[in-house]
Amino acid sequence: MANSKYEYVKSFEVEDEIMLPNLIVVLIGGHDFRRFSEVHEFEKPNDEKALKLMNSCATLVLQEFPDIVFSFGFSDEYSFVFKQTTKFYQRRASKVVSIIVSFFTSAYTTKWKDFFPEKELKYPPSFHSRAIVCASLEVLQEYLAWRQQHCHITNQYSTCLCKLVKSGKTEKEALDILKGTQKQERNELLYRQFGINYTTLPQIFRQGSCVLKNEVEDIVKYSENGTPVKRMRRDVTTVHSKNIAGRKFWNEHPSLLK
Ligand code: ATP
Ligand code: ATP
Ligand code: MG
Ligand code: MG
Ligand code: MG
Repeated sequence: MANSKYEYVKSFEVEDEIMLPNLIVVLIGGHDFRRFSEVHEFEKPNDEKALKLMNSCATLVLQEFPDIVFSFGFSDEYSFVFKQTTKFYQRRASKVVSIIVSFFTSAYTTKWKDFFPEKELKYPPSFHSRAIVCASLEVLQEYLAWRQQHCHITNQYSTCLCKLVKSGKTEKEALDILKGTQKQERNELLYRQFGINYTTLPQIFRQGSCVLKNEVEDIVKYSENGTPVKRMRRDVTTVHSKNIAGRKFWNEHPSLLK
């Protein structure tokens, strides 16, 4: 269409370049996964296979897109962090967001049978997405702290809710019991009524999952005088960690900052 009389139509496109030095985060989330998880009979409050499916899709995203260096996810959501200097699709928000969310969605459907060989995928799932613009590393860390806190609070709440319902309460009664409770009270409820020490539940439930790139040194060959020839490789790994916004975590993963 270049140089045709229709060329001017291009100017109708929304300009949405995310300017340097802002950091780009893409947040994707399952659309209406309350229904999706019911139709596909996910275990409540946490279906571990479903979480591992999400993690494997995130791994594929990091392997496919070199500029994504870090991601954090729980439940039906994942946040993908681009390296600060990325020029991916000229940093245009709608391009970046649509590529990541559509790649993730198709990965979810193609990987489904690896995690649920006995369950048919009953309808095509969809994910929504948006771009988050972080003006500095500190803002990014606040953002991650917010998502991880959300993971913790919703998981603790839904663990209590499930236990109360399984013990014979109706959903309404269980909701009334939990109404207005604080974190500490919910921990005590789990311990006193059900003998559950919340801190011993699996990390993947309580802390969410990080899929990230680590720099690994490979010895490719040995030269004639026996000295090793090394090459750096970026390896994609999954970790569970408390306080992913803290200095300790970022010191342990310095390659994220490059
Ligand atoms: P929206 O389209 O606004 O995101 P939603 O129905 O997806 O709506 P969320 O707040 O995102 O609502 O909640 C996700 C829902 O999916 C929760 O109800 C949660 O119980 C369910 N869910 C997601 N992942 C799992 C999982 N691994 N195990 C059990 N349930 C899950
Ligand atoms: P971008 O990511 O920027 O969209 P692109 O590689 O998808 O890059 P397009 O301009 O969208 O570039 O071009 C689509 C490409 O896919 C063309 O090269 C075209 O040859 C090929 N293609 C798409 N559909 C068909 C089809 N039905 N048959 C043959 N080739 C196709
Ligand atoms: Mg959702
Ligand atoms: Mg959600
Ligand atoms: Mg194309």
